[in-house]
Amino acid sequence: MRKKVIAGNWKMNKDVFETADLINSLKSFLPNSEIEVIVCPPYTSLVIAQQLLKGTQIHLGAQDVSVRDDGAYTGEVSIKMLKSVGCDYVIVGHSERRQYFHESNELINQKAKKILASGMKPIICVGETLDEREKGITDQVITAQVKGVLAGFTSADLAKTIIAYEPVWAIGTGKTATPQQADDVHQLIRKLTGQLFSWNDAEKFVIQYGGSVKPENAKELLHMPNIDGALVGGACLKAESFIAIIDGAKS
Ligand code: PEP
Repeated sequence: MRKKVIAGNWKMNKDVFETADLINSLKSFLPNSEIEVIVCPPYTSLVIAQQLLKGTQIHLGAQDVSVRDDGAYTGEVSIKMLKSVGCDYVIVGHSERRQYFHESNELINQKAKKILASGMKPIICVGETLDEREKGITDQVITAQVKGVLAGFTSADLAKTIIAYEPVWAIGTGKTATPQQADDVHQLIRKLTGQLFSWNDAEKFVIQYGGSVKPENAKELLHMPNIDGALVGGACLKAESFIAIIDGAKS
């Protein structure tokens, strides 16, 4: 039985004061549960978040990381820095990074390997655009992305990795993939990991759905056979809606 994993991607929202408010609200509401919860605030809020999350079961994650170890890379943040502020997870390959910062599957794969080598876990995003879905090439796009981002991974690497399937057309648009549309792609990803690794590895592999997940649609999505959690954007910025989504993941 795979554990459900719900992660909140705060994107470029919340200063340190707002971070403290949100984390404190989450702490006061969140019950101890069988569901793994991760919050991914912006870099500037990681330290305060780490301090406030001490002693809770909520994990801390970052939204990206540099592929470089250190040195003259103005504006970049390294893996060592994220480790030092207590991150357990790092999101990589978000469609906004792919779109605005031209990140390739190859770069995302390099980042993911470095994250794993550091002892943190990558949440790797994949997803097709509206144009690709309308052309009927979703499966090809997802297959190429999954093969690319997992290139050179071992079974042990896969066990510490999460893939978030995020159809680009559903991110921040209010349009959600239907539970069946989402599950079909999750099933494809699981089949692919079975072929690339083993069926045993694929059975254990956590695949999140992301794209306009909200309290109203969370339960149905999160109870599809191949959907093991959610990567939540907009709806994670308010404690009530994030908690309602987590509740929707309960069996
Ligand atoms: C995201 O950006 O990862 C995301 C899923 O955003 P939203 O939930 O707002 O669509």
